[in-house]
Amino acid sequence: MSKKKSKNLQMVLSDGNGAAAASVVTGSAIAASYNDQIRPLLDAVDRLRHLKVTQEGIQLPTIVVVGDQSSGKSSVLESLAGISLPRGQGICTRVPLVMRLQDDPSADSPVLQLEYSNGRAVATTEAKVADAINAATAEIAGSGKGISDAPITLVVRKRGVPDLTLVDLPGITRVPVQGQPDDIYDQIARIIKEYIAPKESIILNVLTATVDFPTCESIRMSQQVDRTGERTLAVVTKVDKAPEGLLEKVTMDDVNIGLGYVCVRNRIGEETYDQARVEEEKLFKYHPLLSKIDKDMVGIPVLAQRLMQIQATIIAKCLPDIVRQINDRLSRNSTELEQMPPDVTSVADAVKEFIRIVKQVCGSLEKILVRGEFDDFPDDGHFHGTARVAEMLNRYAKKLPADVPRRANDLFLMEEIRVLEETKGINLPNFLPRSAFLVLLKKKVDTVTQIPHELANQVWEYVEDLVLKIVQQHTDNFPQVQSSCRRAVQILMEKARARSAQHVKELIEMEQVADYTSNPDYMKTWYEIMEGHDSFMEAVADGSKPAIVNLAGFGEVDVSHLRGKADIAGQAFDLSARLTAYWKSIVLRLVDGLALHVLLGVKRLVESDLEAELANELLGNKLAGVERMLLPSPGTAPKRERIKKSIELLRQSKEVVANIMDRISAAGEV
Ligand code: GDP
Ligand code: MG
Repeated sequence: MSKKKSKNLQMVLSDGNGAAAASVVTGSAIAASYNDQIRPLLDAVDRLRHLKVTQEGIQLPTIVVVGDQSSGKSSVLESLAGISLPRGQGICTRVPLVMRLQDDPSADSPVLQLEYSNGRAVATTEAKVADAINAATAEIAGSGKGISDAPITLVVRKRGVPDLTLVDLPGITRVPVQGQPDDIYDQIARIIKEYIAPKESIILNVLTATVDFPTCESIRMSQQVDRTGERTLAVVTKVDKAPEGLLEKVTMDDVNIGLGYVCVRNRIGEETYDQARVEEEKLFKYHPLLSKIDKDMVGIPVLAQRLMQIQATIIAKCLPDIVRQINDRLSRNSTELEQMPPDVTSVADAVKEFIRIVKQVCGSLEKILVRGEFDDFPDDGHFHGTARVAEMLNRYAKKLPADVPRRANDLFLMEEIRVLEETKGINLPNFLPRSAFLVLLKKKVDTVTQIPHELANQVWEYVEDLVLKIVQQHTDNFPQVQSSCRRAVQILMEKARARSAQHVKELIEMEQVADYTSNPDYMKTWYEIMEGHDSFMEAVADGSKPAIVNLAGFGEVDVSHLRGKADIAGQAFDLSARLTAYWKSIVLRLVDGLALHVLLGVKRLVESDLEAELANELLGNKLAGVERMLLPSPGTAPKRERIKKSIELLRQSKEVVANIMDRISAAGEV
């Protein structure tokens, strides 16, 4: 590669302000070398466009033509391409038309080819191109007046055309013409936005000289996505119709056109392309008003050069980012594909896959519910099973009353006295009947039975939710078996719940039918309380003493209602002392007994029961369940296909850009 050439390219790529363009236009030899340099870049971008890399969310540097309806968009493209395009009133461009212009010195007459978005390509001629575009449009957007965002591509190979790719979009219309849908404005606006919003797009805003620029819809729209106008270039058409005041309009720049204005005169009526160019040149040379406009701002050749220079700049600017995006997406897709389950084509495969899933599910549950390892869900506290269950147990322990539950408005010892009176036996008065203790015990335990049941329910509800979520997660690729798995979990949870209900029932019954503890605290507490027995009895027996006494285990109590019933009050005191001391043992057993039961239940569930139940549900009945895994899954097969296609596309794209990046860096080194 010669020094001269690469220097030219660098000027073109690095300078966005026209100096390079000016140097490029100066000689045809330099122009040819410019084409040599730019063509491969442009080809690369076009190939990427063709590969539909935009479907992968990668934006390509694109020059997008926008303008109000009949502003002359198609005419401008026609002038640039030197061919005839469908022109006229009403809506002509109904789908995006990608125009790929290629200078081909060997082409004596233009070579035209129309490419559909499905890859089909048909050769056409200048005379037939209008019909061919209309036919393709009808095929894509229907034969009515509807529009579509699927583009068609027109390749024009002709001697002397600038190497450019431009996208022509449907014109903006506020009022639907007959046969157009009511929401035509919104539809067109949506397509235009889709094309001009990416920062990689250059907006070629086609304005008619006859209108006030700030009133143009296309100006309003491009300003929404490019407020400062840094990527907007204006082309003013129909200058022959409104030469007055044009110079002021394009020099005042009321509408923020960052890349400048180019005024043109397109083909009128049945003129040929060459005639039109001659007329245009004459117009800007001799017209009393138009000739005053700077020569850098007039004529189709200037427009062509500006566009080529802008195109080179944006391509060079965007390519490194495109390379990065392609690589990113490629590695992301490859990872995703690797993580997908293997194809399941035989019962043996299905069983293998099923066992793998069960292992994963149980392993994951064991981590979060038994071992307390949360590396699978570092940030989602809901999945930190052991911590959540521990919280529930703590709350449960707090909810059980620490002291014997009593009715708030009962006078001191009156409940004990009532029980003693009912269980009075025919025996000596100073024997404390055991039945009295048991009756009282049962009554007290009765008041808390709901609490352990609630805990068991709460724990299983939480565990069920976790298990279902984990199962769901690991069977994502086999939606056909998810309902079976859910059923297995539900059956299992029913069993676990029933077991816990039975366990709680027994825990309660045990407390109610017998009184026993080996806990030394019982005797210790009882002694402590009984130390107050004498002062209590004194206060009851001796009316002259204060009726309020402070007693260990009971606090300050009023004994005035007990005066005159010293015998039974003494017994009641003893009864109450025993129950108060014993209550602590009951609570301890209810907490510990249930906590251990729950932990055992959870452990058993994740270590053996779940596996057995899932196996029962899916392997039972002659493997009917796993056989369903062989059915084409609505999820995986298409997904796998999609990822594979996307990887293939990205690989090809990568090759395209790799070639071109090599050339660029080689050019830079010369
Ligand atoms: P589009 O709807 O934006 O694609 O506009 P067209 O390219 O179809 O042009 C609309 C009408 O304006 C056509 O009749 C063109 O011939 C006419 N037209 C376009 N450019 C010029 C121009 O520079 N001068 C004159 N006099 N007419 C033009
Ligand atoms: Mg048009």
